Amino acid sequence: MAIVIRNATVVTVDANDAIHYDAALAIEGGWIAAIGPSEEVVARFPGADSVDADGKAVLPGFANIHTHFPLIIAKGIYEDLSPPNQPPFTSGLSAIPTPELTPEEKAAMVRLAALEAIRSGTTAVLEDGGNVDVYAQAIADTGLRLLLCEHAWDKAKGSIGDQGGFEVNASLGDQCVKRIEALHAKWNGAAGGRITVGVSAWAPDMCSPDLLRRLRALQNRLDCVSTVHLNQFWGEVTAVETVRGRKPTEYLADLGFLNDRLICAHCRCMSPEEEALLGKAGAGVAFNSTIAARRGLSPRIDDLERQGATIGIGTDNMSEDMVEAMRTALFMERVRRSDGRKPTPEQVLRWATANGYRLMGIPDGGSLEVGKRADLIMVDLRRAPLVPHLRVVSTFVHQGQAQDVTDVMVDGRWLMREDRVLTMDEAATIDEAQRVAEAAWTRLFAERPDLEPERPRGWRPTARDHRAAAAS
Ligand SMILES: [Zn+2]
Repeated sequence: MAIVIRNATVVTVDANDAIHYDAALAIEGGWIAAIGPSEEVVARFPGADSVDADGKAVLPGFANIHTHFPLIIAKGIYEDLSPPNQPPFTSGLSAIPTPELTPEEKAAMVRLAALEAIRSGTTAVLEDGGNVDVYAQAIADTGLRLLLCEHAWDKAKGSIGDQGGFEVNASLGDQCVKRIEALHAKWNGAAGGRITVGVSAWAPDMCSPDLLRRLRALQNRLDCVSTVHLNQFWGEVTAVETVRGRKPTEYLADLGFLNDRLICAHCRCMSPEEEALLGKAGAGVAFNSTIAARRGLSPRIDDLERQGATIGIGTDNMSEDMVEAMRTALFMERVRRSDGRKPTPEQVLRWATANGYRLMGIPDGGSLEVGKRADLIMVDLRRAPLVPHLRVVSTFVHQGQAQDVTDVMVDGRWLMREDRVLTMDEAATIDEAQRVAEAAWTRLFAERPDLEPERPRGWRPTARDHRAAAAS
């Protein structure tokens, strides 16, 4: 049955940034069938399920083009444990590892991440991770559109930013490539095409030239999108310069890894020459604005865009809030450029929607036009932060909150309707994730007392701490 959303403000993000007032949008199957004056569209679809959107705006859903759902477990912890931005550099994202999780625990955490994503108006997600198959079903069940990317590396010892040279572990690389092929065989095109699979190289300092060549060939063979963490930290830049004698983006360019179906995450610690290389290749850049701000680093988005790179937005770790990421992208770029007018809210909304969909290999999504995919959200304009809404895009980008998103649709199916998430039990998801996280972190510190000095301040007391306090 068709769905007609009527009496709405329709923000299209089409080529002209057109906005239709008192308009209706008809959906048939997973596709947008009509957009126009409410009376006209309602008359054209007499048997449709009719949704009154008076006081609401309809926008394309957000594409989060770089995230790691299981790392939601580090929320409140890793934000304050960033690696150093100058020497001496350390290895890995933080001095504290994340706890090992059982498949059930991991599923509980990724459900929480998906819930946060849906509640902030996300409709499409590029999930980059290891052993993605373990939790793919748990995310697929939430109804989100997914590009699943299993990451590969073959550095034997040390993590990102590690300065200990590069020793190859070829069998590790082989295993990773096999996992990518298996994930692709199982999930690419699943759920009626809602789920696709891409190729991921972890980072330039984690991959040998051989592995990068293999991954590039695999991308060609699978005819898919690829992704990589690129120029994420200064420690990565130094490590690649030491081992490869050039900068990370030059290293990838020389191996033929750069291409116009590659999404490069971060691009923060980057020279102008590297920005030009990315632009020349027509690559995409995931502007992970909130994590960038937390790290005290910023990509030069304006320069990257001028060079020819396509900008999209990601949340990376610890948050799935795309409304916040979109606004932070605007704020960070304005501060960095020392410009109180640019980027415009319309530009930033395009990064978060149409550009993100294009980069994820879904050119028929990310904008509200006839013939495009019905991936959309509704925003309640009658919430205090959004009144008065005389310029709806500006008001939402500058003032909107995730909780102003009331409805989310993917492929013509409601994932959230009138503020209620339909594809999961919200209360149970939240309770379970809190319980799993408390248990997992408690376990880690019990097993690794040597980590105790690294534990950041303000940690919630555990049962063990209560017992210790009572005993003293
Ligand atoms: Zn990342």
